[in-house]
Amino acid sequence: MKIMSVNAGSSSLKFKMYEMPEEKVITEGIVERIGLEDAYFTIKINGEKQKEVLPIKDHSVAVQKLLDELIKRGIVKSLDEIQGIGHRIVQGGWYFDDSVLIDQSVIDKIDELCALAPLHNRPHLIGIDAFRKVLPAVPNVAVFDTSFHQTMTEEAFMYAIPYEWYTEQKVRKYGAHGTSHKYVAYRCAELMGKDVKDLKIITCHLGNGASISAVKGGKCIDTSMGLTPLEGIPMGTRSGNLDPTVLSYMAEKKGYGLDELITILNKKSGYLGVSGVSNDSRDLEEAMDAGNERAKLALDIQYKRIADYIGSYYVYMGGVDAIVFTAGIGENCARCREQVIERVSVLGAKLDLEANNVRGVEKEISSQDSKVKVYLIPTEEELMIARDVMRVANL
Ligand code: ADP
Repeated sequence: MKIMSVNAGSSSLKFKMYEMPEEKVITEGIVERIGLEDAYFTIKINGEKQKEVLPIKDHSVAVQKLLDELIKRGIVKSLDEIQGIGHRIVQGGWYFDDSVLIDQSVIDKIDELCALAPLHNRPHLIGIDAFRKVLPAVPNVAVFDTSFHQTMTEEAFMYAIPYEWYTEQKVRKYGAHGTSHKYVAYRCAELMGKDVKDLKIITCHLGNGASISAVKGGKCIDTSMGLTPLEGIPMGTRSGNLDPTVLSYMAEKKGYGLDELITILNKKSGYLGVSGVSNDSRDLEEAMDAGNERAKLALDIQYKRIADYIGSYYVYMGGVDAIVFTAGIGENCARCREQVIERVSVLGAKLDLEANNVRGVEKEISSQDSKVKVYLIPTEEELMIARDVMRVANL
């Protein structure tokens, strides 16, 4: 049967369709610039990308276009072949510790959580609505980026702030990238030939957004992102942790408003802010090789902070069996992996530099005498979503 995994953004809709349970990718693509006269529809079939420019008024039109193309191109003979749709949802808050079948009460809760992730949850709802309109008989499943982190205990997810902020406004850590952290942790156990229940794993999801998790016995016990994805390590454009007083200090010095300050921390900090070059790690490495000191500094700050988290999670878990790298930078940047592992060598982790000199492949990259295994595991969030659709919708 065919299962569609969907990630709806404010002006885009990414899709990937699987033949399940074989877990074979049938097609994938993206609709971009939704709302414009010159929107893009891109679809990949048999490894070949095809792009069309056309007006796409809203997400329902985007979904209709996608389904029309599936029929037109013979990918499905009838839409009945699509038996389930899985939606990536960034913020599931305190409501969801697992994926769920979407009904009106789930929609209401995702809507309520928009306050915590307005840029993400609102477009997700628009995506859900579009699929429910166009394919009313097909089950839709919500898969939350936060649910894997719901196993954290209070001491890990609470901030040391007035308690009422937690009880009344639900201010606490929720984390993000949970689907990815879970996938790579469980896959790591498979590669090690061990039961995940017996392992302590630190997962490093390093993309434009980046987070680190401590996974003990298959459960997340701590993660670096917080109430929102701004907390944790510095990222492409996000600052990660800092003293909150920086905000009032800069407001006083430069007259910034609160929204403006948060936007600067989300969009103009991290790699971009420190280097002044780019938010893209490839550009930073190129600039660094050409002698740009600020580009090197931006990377070094991030590597130091990643190492700090690994050290802290090592202590919190009482050891570590494996460290896993994933996502755009984790999968592609050998220098990043080398720098981070070098900085945690005191834990007994050591890379095989030759094995590390690869991109985007599933591989053990630690040296034979390393006390901690190190893996590169490309993430498969969409596959996790498709698997959850099968499980939750009982297909
Ligand atoms: P997100 O999903 O959070 O937008 P990605 O996981 O796609 O981010 O990661 C984007 C980051 O991955 C960028 O900093 C980019 O430079 C880096 N990246 C992607 N491909 C490569 C590559 N071939 N070499 C080095 N870095 C790469």
